[in-house]
Amino acid sequence: MSTLDLFDRIVDLFAPTEHHTATRGKREQASGDRARRMAPPRKEKQPSESQHSMALDGHRVDYKVVRRRGRRGVGLKIDGNGLTVAASLTTPLSAIEGMIGQHAGWVSRKLGEWSQRRITPQVWQTGAKIPFMGESLTLMLETGHARAHVEQAMGHLFVKVRSDDPALIEKAVVTWLKKQALPYLAQRAFHFARLHQLTPPQVFLSSANGRWGSCNSRREVRFSWRLIKARPALIDYVVCHEMAHLRHMNHSAAFWAEVERMCPDYMALKKELDQSDHRFRAF
Ligand SMILES: [Zn+2]
Repeated sequence: MSTLDLFDRIVDLFAPTEHHTATRGKREQASGDRARRMAPPRKEKQPSESQHSMALDGHRVDYKVVRRRGRRGVGLKIDGNGLTVAASLTTPLSAIEGMIGQHAGWVSRKLGEWSQRRITPQVWQTGAKIPFMGESLTLMLETGHARAHVEQAMGHLFVKVRSDDPALIEKAVVTWLKKQALPYLAQRAFHFARLHQLTPPQVFLSSANGRWGSCNSRREVRFSWRLIKARPALIDYVVCHEMAHLRHMNHSAAFWAEVERMCPDYMALKKELDQSDHRFRAF
């Protein structure tokens, strides 16, 4: 059974981005690490860390300096924790800020990308926004109901639950989203199958949080229920992607040609999904 994974890029997305100002410094650091591993363990001072901020292109940039004895050159790293600078014990702050300034474009761009990709935790209170098919439903909470009940109306999601326990509200909302997701996704899969003379597959929901869809040689297609949060065009792209796998169980040129036949603007949609999918992963 071959299972084809979709969007393994998500993993890349959250991997830290490293930027070394000098490859020489990097290589030297790497060989230094190796030498340390081979040498008998010796007590080493913990690296010293300090927080700083500076103005960059008219914006305030906070950064952390991690100083280590024997470190050569200055290294810049940007990830979900922001900008970290690796430096020696004696590198002056002015030299560090000079280095950041020299790479201002890269620093601003990477910090911007990370702040956009940060997953904001879902709030489970009245007034909170729940993503649904590209729209944003306003959560309306009513407690004191023994049986959970969820209803969508006029851009709102009315949720009746026993108490305001966030776990309870989340469970009710997720159950509702799954209930909407399965018939919708199955219907889209059926639609594209008919349109392109394919035997309709069996459609299932998955709880995958790193993969939007998968399919196997038994013609079983699985979609993450979270996909129902995305706008219909993005959902269709994922559906077409899996439908195309019914003809090509790989990511060959022939496969992508099939995707394009079913979904002519797939490239733009794929890019949009890659860039915005963190918005669908808060819960
Ligand atoms: Zn695929």
